[in-house]
Amino acid sequence: MDDSALRSLFHQHVWQPFTQMKLAGEPHFIERGKGALLVTRDGQEIVDAIGSWWVNIHGHSHPKINAAIANQAEALEHVIFAGLSHAPGVELAARLSATTNHHLPRVYYSDNGSTAIEIALKMAYQFFQNKGAVHKREFISLTGAYHGDTIGTMSVGARSVFHEMYADLLFDTHYVSPPAVAFENWHIVDESHPAIQTALTELEELLSAKSTQICALLVEPLVQGASAAFAMYPPAYLRAAFQLCKEYDVFTIADEVFTGSGRTGRYYACEHAGVWPDIMALSKGLSGGYLPLAATLCSEKIYQGFYSDNRAHTLFHGHSMTGNPLGCAAALASLDLFTAENTLQRVQELEQHYRKLAAELLAGPLAAFTKEVRILGSIFALELAADLQYTSDFGWQVMQRSIAGGVLLRPLGKVIYMTPPYCISSAQLEKAFSVLHSVLLELLAD
Ligand SMILES: *Cc1c(COP(=O)(O)O)cnc(C)c1O
Repeated sequence: MDDSALRSLFHQHVWQPFTQMKLAGEPHFIERGKGALLVTRDGQEIVDAIGSWWVNIHGHSHPKINAAIANQAEALEHVIFAGLSHAPGVELAARLSATTNHHLPRVYYSDNGSTAIEIALKMAYQFFQNKGAVHKREFISLTGAYHGDTIGTMSVGARSVFHEMYADLLFDTHYVSPPAVAFENWHIVDESHPAIQTALTELEELLSAKSTQICALLVEPLVQGASAAFAMYPPAYLRAAFQLCKEYDVFTIADEVFTGSGRTGRYYACEHAGVWPDIMALSKGLSGGYLPLAATLCSEKIYQGFYSDNRAHTLFHGHSMTGNPLGCAAALASLDLFTAENTLQRVQELEQHYRKLAAELLAGPLAAFTKEVRILGSIFALELAADLQYTSDFGWQVMQRSIAGGVLLRPLGKVIYMTPPYCISSAQLEKAFSVLHSVLLELLAD
């Protein structure tokens, strides 16, 4: 099909996420991908500096993951995962349990991050219902949280502009603030830091007043992504907050949908704090960013709260595509790559390279426009100064101009970020920084 026919069909039939279609302009049609590169239909190469919405970790069209999916498709593409089962689904469950040193040995599949969180909420809620603690029905979230776009996950997320339209549909959640600690102090602060103490006091006051009504605290560990634009809080808070919850018999749910699969330099962000939650949600990078696959992992204790002769204690949840074998095969191949390609080492090198490039960036005129740079593992976030004047289409402008320069960037408000595949080459990363630099100067200097 030629380009103009494709464009015409696009405008007649396609409705895209988070997009005001009337103002969206022309899409860029991507035909191929290789490593961190995307190639358009007319042959333009674009560095995928955002990992295709934070999902791609080993690069596009990786031969090992391609082969795993092709082999699995030859044997079995999908089968009902209730009553029946299959080897890739079982093997992946065992391998995921091992990634948590078997702290979270039970694995419940679904197909995207939002549903992985919905399942986590239902597990925590129903556990106490099954036990007869019928008043433990409420959740605590962090201010600035993002956990997905379904009604349930919006209810436990920040009531942002994206979600306030639906406020009437949402259930109430308790919110506590994560500590406000400047990122330069991220690594060194311990629990006695005043901002951490303030945040812990707020949590403890809520727990001591309401823990008989609360079933779980839900957090994005260390990095608050889509809603707070890569705000980061120190591991000391996560560790102490989880400890408090334990003391008050409240479960902890770690939303590692974005931070899992090595994104922060450890396989899970919780590992920076040396803690495990009771429930953990995974998606985005789980299948290498290839296929819609999610998993909700939980402790043996939670599993045992459902394991019963009483059928009313069943976890009543399921999706048609649960445990899809193609997704599981991709996820197994992705786990193999972490060993074969030394992936976590690669993420640490990427972090070092970010530090060098960020220092160069901030030695120039952009420093005057920058509030803070935050770097953790494969995440780079540059927050622009709060008093800058923005046109309403600032983000769109950054995206269009950076694509024209051969780099895919998509800011979140005043935060320009990179979350590339970990295999991005030094030259590709340098190109991404140079395009980010020139696009921002163009837009900010006039
Ligand atoms: C992306 C994301 C989700 C939602 O995942 P979807 O697959 O987009 O539904 C949930 N939590 C976090 C932290 C995320 O980054």
